[in-house]
Amino acid sequence: MLNIVLFGPPGAGKGTQSEKLINKYKLTHISTGDLFRKHLGEGTELGKLAQKYMDDGYLVPDEVVIGMVDDKIKETTDANGFIFDGFPRTVNQAEALDKLMNGKGTPISGMIALEVPFDELKKRLLERGKISGRADDQSEEKINNRIKVYQSETIPVSEFYKKQGKFTAVNGVGSIDDIFGKICGVIDGLQVQNNS
Ligand code: AMP
Repeated sequence: MLNIVLFGPPGAGKGTQSEKLINKYKLTHISTGDLFRKHLGEGTELGKLAQKYMDDGYLVPDEVVIGMVDDKIKETTDANGFIFDGFPRTVNQAEALDKLMNGKGTPISGMIALEVPFDELKKRLLERGKISGRADDQSEEKINNRIKVYQSETIPVSEFYKKQGKFTAVNGVGSIDDIFGKICGVIDGLQVQNNS
């Protein structure tokens, strides 16, 4: 099984690349942001709870996110593997994910981190805001807050995977296809390691 954590700040291109990767490698996509937006759209209690945090760019509490991911993994019985997108975002979440996946006997294969300069991220998110309708893409203040939260709470997650020798950085600036090619190169290397 191939289990990839696709990591990077908001606006790095994780969603775009995940769509291409799930088609190529037949993986199940778990995007916690998408799952929360689905709950929000359906007006569930979980959605209402998450909205309070999402609108201003704060993280939803760990136990809520971890419970949701746990349910999603358990209900997926036919996966070749998973792409985790936007999760884990705290070291607590990374530890919980390790426990879940190690418990299934299918550990995380690797983290791929998309690196994009902060000025470029801001530009991309403001552009996306014009078409996405996402409340959290609508103002520079909210975007700055998400980047600040990323720096303080999420960057330590990359250290967690570095310590396990599972971290690879990929330059997230360039054409979608070029970046996709580089990510595939990393994944193909992981598959060779898995099979040897
Ligand atoms: P995203 O679509 O990944 O940018 O996520 C949108 C928002 O959903 C984030 O700004 C958070 O409020 C919330 N969210 C998504 N994933 C997580 C996570 N792993 N932990 C906490 N909050 C999350």
